[in-house]
Amino acid sequence: MTAISNMSPEDKMVHNAYRKLLRTIKTPLEDADRKLIRDAYELAVEAHRPQRRKSGEPYILHPLAVATICTEEIGLGPTAVAAALLHDVVEDTPVKLEDIRAKFGAQIAKMVDGLTKLDSAYNAESQQAENVLKVLSTLVEDVRVVLIKMADRLHNMRTLGAMTRQKQLKIAAETSYVYAPLAHRLGLYGLKTEFLDLCMKVTEPEAYHDIARNLADTKRDRNRYINEFIKPLTPHLDAIGVPYQVYGRPKSIYSIWNKIQSKRVPFEEIYDLFAVRIVMDVPLDRERLSCWQAYSIVTNVHKPLPERLKDWVTMPKSNGYESLHTTVIGPQGKFVEVQIRTNRMDEIAERGFAAHWKYKGVNNQKDVFEQWLDSVREILEDPGENAVEVLETFKDNNLFNEEIFVYTPKGELRILPKGATALDFAFSIHSDVGYHCTAVKVNNKLVPMGCVLKNGDQVKVITNKNQKPSEDWLKFVVTGKAKSKIRSAMKEERRKLGEYGREAFERKLRNLKLEPNEEIVEKLVRYFDLDSHVDFYYSIYMGAITIERIFKLFMPEGNTLVEIPKVGEEVRPPEPPPSKKRDLSKGRLMINGEDAERYSYSLATCCNPVQGDDIFAYVTSNATLKIHRTTCPNATNLMANYGYRIMKAEWVHTPGTTFVADLKITGIDDGPGVIERLSHAISSNLNINIRTFSIAGDQGYFEGRVSLVVQNTDQLSIAIRSLLKLPNVSTVERVV
Ligand code: MN
Repeated sequence: MTAISNMSPEDKMVHNAYRKLLRTIKTPLEDADRKLIRDAYELAVEAHRPQRRKSGEPYILHPLAVATICTEEIGLGPTAVAAALLHDVVEDTPVKLEDIRAKFGAQIAKMVDGLTKLDSAYNAESQQAENVLKVLSTLVEDVRVVLIKMADRLHNMRTLGAMTRQKQLKIAAETSYVYAPLAHRLGLYGLKTEFLDLCMKVTEPEAYHDIARNLADTKRDRNRYINEFIKPLTPHLDAIGVPYQVYGRPKSIYSIWNKIQSKRVPFEEIYDLFAVRIVMDVPLDRERLSCWQAYSIVTNVHKPLPERLKDWVTMPKSNGYESLHTTVIGPQGKFVEVQIRTNRMDEIAERGFAAHWKYKGVNNQKDVFEQWLDSVREILEDPGENAVEVLETFKDNNLFNEEIFVYTPKGELRILPKGATALDFAFSIHSDVGYHCTAVKVNNKLVPMGCVLKNGDQVKVITNKNQKPSEDWLKFVVTGKAKSKIRSAMKEERRKLGEYGREAFERKLRNLKLEPNEEIVEKLVRYFDLDSHVDFYYSIYMGAITIERIFKLFMPEGNTLVEIPKVGEEVRPPEPPPSKKRDLSKGRLMINGEDAERYSYSLATCCNPVQGDDIFAYVTSNATLKIHRTTCPNATNLMANYGYRIMKAEWVHTPGTTFVADLKITGIDDGPGVIERLSHAISSNLNINIRTFSIAGDQGYFEGRVSLVVQNTDQLSIAIRSLLKLPNVSTVERVV
């Protein structure tokens, strides 16, 4: 090695990056580990020497940065650091996987191989859904590989500037579709937040920079407010007698933007730009006690909102998150979220999965992660479904949703996604228990199979070996496991019964001196517009297609069947569907620049688009169009997986049309007259009709719902803004 003083400036930069990496490793390194990292670094430096990044800097700075993210932000150990340093070597340089194996052993070689494969999955322009499945399969094999991949992606996102706009958009789409939800699921909140912010910076650069600037401009006022909020708390927190920190934390740009979008209000009217966090340094056995002490201090000083307490200290989330959250009414009647946790909980919240190994056995965290990985494994093992379908069930149940905790009759804990039913529970125990489930008892009472379970329920499944799943069952379940098990059971059932149909059909062919063959079946499958051979045979078994009918339409010729020409039959186009007069009071639409009335379309009920909303049209599988809002929760998925089915849609401005929009209003109830003041503000001042209005108060706090008849989103925004100006109103939100 050259002495540092003789190094070129560039080599010095690389050397410093390496020193920085070593400094981020907090635990003392054993000699063997130190050598491992050194060897990996030296090999990577040599291999990447001729390469530069798009930005012009030496390529080796990238693997060094990725390795640093692995230690500093994810908390991975020496093996992963070595793999991170080597992650691009096999893909981009002449070094072979065998070389890595010879020098570093099978384990690191396997990790590097996994990382190389994940990269090529991405480059191959294949469908997003298939990429995700590849990531998930890697995940169940070695979580560290996916964590390193996330570090790689994070560094690429941070340094996107040098790429073409096209490439930036593509990487951002994949990041928000795959890596952000995965980071969330693995409890890496820091990474998830940064991913979403960086994606937004690419897709919505103006909005991003606007909010960033606004945040900077309002920083002083915000800090003043936070100090005012914290000040009365400190003497009481001091009295607990443990070291602690209390500070305000700004929310992410992405989450602020989301609020601006969904509430349709300007930045100035977003109230929760920050949360206050209390982090205490206490030994394990005092954690709960201290958290609840802090909670009672906060809520004694600032009035809490009823039902806004979230207790993930007693029962952590299944991604490992532990914290106590509450929302209180701070100075000037503003709502403030307060998060209470310990140092250990804070580390888990920031680093998620990796930190949980460090604290393994502290509580039930090992189980929750492992249970989740098991469920991922099970879904992946189920073949026969297409990637998009598998992914749907994932996104619905495994990546985002919150979970509920239920118990078996023996008191064993099971974790299911929120919304899971009694039948889902049966399938979660074992697929055979699901298949043969005849009745379910929840807390000792018989319930329907589709009964939605609640936290703490005790569930008992009654089985009967003669029971079999039916198509209907799909309506009673929400979990991916249950859905795919029912589907494959149905498929199997159709296949079995179809065998009878096949026998009957082949017997008839042989009677006609025809040897059954592929071509014949293919022809008939196409003629009857079926999906598969199985469907054809099953239709025969069910009598939906009779053998008699087949041979009225077809006759043998050579060793195949040909259509019998129809004599004197008039060919008529199919009847157009009875034209229903559309209710145009909801506004007119243009689809791909043409009047939408030429198409058969309807407004999606998942997001209820109204005139003025940004919208798009989606071609459904039965060739009709559904109009969604671009902010619809289903939109990202539709766009990522079915981009070719998306059509442009826009509103044609038509005066006199009206629609109904629902608002949720909360605030401080200081006595009678609240409703009167609110409805006066709406109907008299703004001249907007109110369709319904309901309000409920509780301990000085009210929550109301109002349905307004408005003409467009502009009018709605004006209404929201003027409601927010009323002295007692805290929040106004449009309800989708
Ligand atoms: Mn890389």
